[in-house]
Amino acid sequence: MASPALRADLGRIVGDEHVLDPVPRELLQDATESRGLTGRALAAVRPADAEEVAAVVRWAARTGTALVPRGGGTGFSGGAVPGAAPDDPDAVVLATDRLTRGATIRPEDWSATFPAGTVTADLQRRCLEAGLFFAPNPGSAESSLLGGNVATNAGGPRSFKHGPVRAWVSGVEAVLGDGERVRLGGAVRKNVETLDLLGLLCGSEGTLGVLTEVTLKLQPAPEVALPTIALYADREAGLAAIAAVLACGVVPTALEFLDGTTLAASAGAFPGGLPEGAGFAVLVEALGPAAVAPLEARELATALAPDALAVRAPTERAAVDALWRWRDGVSIAVTAARGGKLSEDLVVPASRLGDALAAVEEVGARHGVPVTSWGHAGDGNLHATVLVDRDDAAELARAEQAAHAMLEIAHRLGGALTGEHGIGLVKREAAAALDPTLRRAQRAVKDVLDPAGIMNPGRKL
Ligand SMILES: Cc1cc2nc3c(=O)[nH]c(=O)nc-3n(C[C@H](O)[C@H](O)[C@H](O)COP(=O)(O)OP(=O)(O)OC[C@H]3O[C@@H](n4cnc5c(N)ncnc54)[C@H](O)[C@@H]3O)c2cc1C
Repeated sequence: MASPALRADLGRIVGDEHVLDPVPRELLQDATESRGLTGRALAAVRPADAEEVAAVVRWAARTGTALVPRGGGTGFSGGAVPGAAPDDPDAVVLATDRLTRGATIRPEDWSATFPAGTVTADLQRRCLEAGLFFAPNPGSAESSLLGGNVATNAGGPRSFKHGPVRAWVSGVEAVLGDGERVRLGGAVRKNVETLDLLGLLCGSEGTLGVLTEVTLKLQPAPEVALPTIALYADREAGLAAIAAVLACGVVPTALEFLDGTTLAASAGAFPGGLPEGAGFAVLVEALGPAAVAPLEARELATALAPDALAVRAPTERAAVDALWRWRDGVSIAVTAARGGKLSEDLVVPASRLGDALAAVEEVGARHGVPVTSWGHAGDGNLHATVLVDRDDAAELARAEQAAHAMLEIAHRLGGALTGEHGIGLVKREAAAALDPTLRRAQRAVKDVLDPAGIMNPGRKL
């Protein structure tokens, strides 16, 4: 609960009706809710524009109050969950959902500027209407916000060929932790005028400032998107198919995999029904001009075919959309399988994917918990997951231990703790063991950009 003085201060900045106290439960959670993470906060504020954001940040710096920026609350690392750790200070949630005014699309420059509160899928649609394409496509696009995507440097299936959000950001406007407004970059496709401060903000998980506006470097909209999914009896056959795709000379936009448990959990929504005996799936996409994409799709299907139980390559728009809707819903289907899940986001060199999958299964067996993996095979990025009954405290504890043990796999195989979901709260213990020199450098950056230490303390760094 906020004190009357705090409420009055914030009300003067954003208007009393945009100070939420008590804070609605949905602003105290993110997608880690399925592992039981819920927080607490003094209040939430919903500023209308960058000016109000800056005033809130200045107020927080002056009063030493922690601020937790929030986008769509779809994060998988607890980054937007205030007060979830015992040592978290009392915080105010800074919701960015009202930052929606003033988008500009510049087709002639293949560029667009959107406020940070724009829903990801809305901006994708608006770009397409203007003949432009924003490739990053996290499965949460209907709920996540652009600011959250930049703050997590989100990926998604199409990041294999087209890179994560960072590769598409040419400029941001942000309010740094001292309340200063800055513009970094702009509607230019290259820019080495300064150190890569823009890059620092991408993936900073709300620890350096608040993103208020983002300028994107886009591409012409593709004419056709042709996914192909192949089903295999087992992991070995699926891994061989992934290797064949990587060797075939065509770079698919997406190169995804799903193991047998994930397939079983999402079977109900699988378009056309899952073939008998399917224990692994590989999904690829060819995207581009109508004269090129079908040729690429054919090459990819040839690479996938040898050991497949079935290969499906929809071409009708409705069937293509249905396949991607199923893929986007996999995370939710896996959560529903046992009521909860603890998902890691390991990334390893693509050639070590098989070793990582085997190691995840070994961890599950050792801790006596069911595990599953799916993700972005081309990026070596696996969402290694423990399925958990949240009402069973003993199982939840074993699941937490197993999830923690999975993190060790990434470094052992030459990878990293997280490829796209971020460190947030749930991986901070593992991140505390990273190279001390790197951690000192990160801390020095934080101290300069957020001298009062108010921006999302205890997360990421
Ligand atoms: C079903 C589902 C599928 C998903 N699929 C993918 C996927 O394919 N790829 C992927 O990368 N992720 C995926 N995610 C995870 C999540 O959607 C992404 O991390 C997303 O980018 C988070 O955006 P958000 O707006 O919901 O941010 P939030 O969850 O609200 O916040 C995430 C972090 O960013 C900070 N933040 C938010 N907005 C701002 C801002 N304006 N300024 C500064 N900091 C800010 C927060 O403090 C927090 O640390 C998925 C999630 C779900 C639930």
